[in-house]
Amino acid sequence: MAYLSDPKETIAVLNRYGFHFKKNFGQNFLIDSHVLDKIIASAGVTKDDVVLEIGPGIGTMTQALCEAAGEVVAVEIDSTLIPILREDTCKDYDNLTIINEDVLKVDLAAVCEEHGGKALKVVANLPYYITTPIIMGLFEKRVPIESITVMVQKEVAYRMQAGPGTKDYGALSLAVQYYSEPYLAANVPQNCFIPRPNVDSAVIRLTSHKEPPVEVKDEKLMFALIRAAFGQRRKTFANSAGNSKEVPYTKEQMGEAFERMGLDPNVRGEALTLEQFAELSNALTAQ
Ligand code: SAM
Repeated sequence: MAYLSDPKETIAVLNRYGFHFKKNFGQNFLIDSHVLDKIIASAGVTKDDVVLEIGPGIGTMTQALCEAAGEVVAVEIDSTLIPILREDTCKDYDNLTIINEDVLKVDLAAVCEEHGGKALKVVANLPYYITTPIIMGLFEKRVPIESITVMVQKEVAYRMQAGPGTKDYGALSLAVQYYSEPYLAANVPQNCFIPRPNVDSAVIRLTSHKEPPVEVKDEKLMFALIRAAFGQRRKTFANSAGNSKEVPYTKEQMGEAFERMGLDPNVRGEALTLEQFAELSNALTAQ
């Protein structure tokens, strides 16, 4: 069996099918076996697992996943890649289901149900143009997920795992950390892909929390406060939240909640922890 993590094999497949990369689908195929091994090891895939792979490409990671996992479901938008996967690079795997669809349109909770209902392990070298909608979609739609181990743009990985008071900390950090525990598994240079992307990459694993890390009465309000806090980073939090159309509380009401929490009225949103955003939203709903 020819493995695609050998760059010569990848080039042979691309030539055999006259494949042309589509930039608008974020197609940068992995050609480094060490990085591939690192991703599979970080994801901790075993024969008990059902893995969802988003964007299998020509099947580089799919091959390794089919060998490590019980079952693999791979969702690929580009129909020209489907015959390559089905008839060539992954034809020998009977534990693989390929879905030719835009992953954002697939009912992944139903896919999980159809494959036994056990929480999925998501493993992917993601198309970078839709990293955030894919990850937030998985969490917000409550697809049963055990963990998400993905290659993403390096800056995005850093933002996901950043803590308060750092330059990378923002709405994405809080959203990801509300649902999961991030772990940065590896930095990946540009020469590990064909074609070379013009950004650096990183592998990050997000392990779903079993219990929510904070108790929130109104999630929508908490996320509206978070967006307001980082929408206008230079302003004090009370001012930016008071001005936000999404936050249905006046500056005065915000001030009262701050006082009860013992928060400095001039605090900036970027200094607040997830616990404080949760506490503040609970204090506002209790008013
Ligand atoms: N997994 C392969 C690898 O590591 O070599 C390919 C990774 S490439 C960065 C991203 C893949 O996602 C491409 O195959 C692309 O066609 C696919 N893709 C892009 N947008 C997609 C979408 N909305 N739904 C499903 N797949 C998508």
